[in-house]
Amino acid sequence: MQMATKLREVDHEARRLGGRSASLPCLVRITPGPILTIYHSADAPCGRVQYTSNFRRVTEAKAKDSSPYFRLERCTACHWGNAAKIHGQRLLNDS
Ligand SMILES: [Zn+2]
Repeated sequence: MQMATKLREVDHEARRLGGRSASLPCLVRITPGPILTIYHSADAPCGRVQYTSNFRRVTEAKAKDSSPYFRLERCTACHWGNAAKIHGQRLLNDS
């Protein structure tokens, strides 16, 4: 019971940390195509990311600034909750 509570706390902390980290790994398309408006999660991508070689892996801060004209948005199909958790876990492990 206590273990479960502890795990939930760690899980929550990981999501919190990862979700607001500017270093969250993201993918920005580098192949020709429609104008870029979004970026994807690198850790929990949606089905539109089939070949990671078509994307540049950058931090979320950089991903937002990938267009000279406007800020890119998060893809709504990617699993950002999972991405936050994975990245948060990474941050917790590194500290
Ligand atoms: Zn996506």
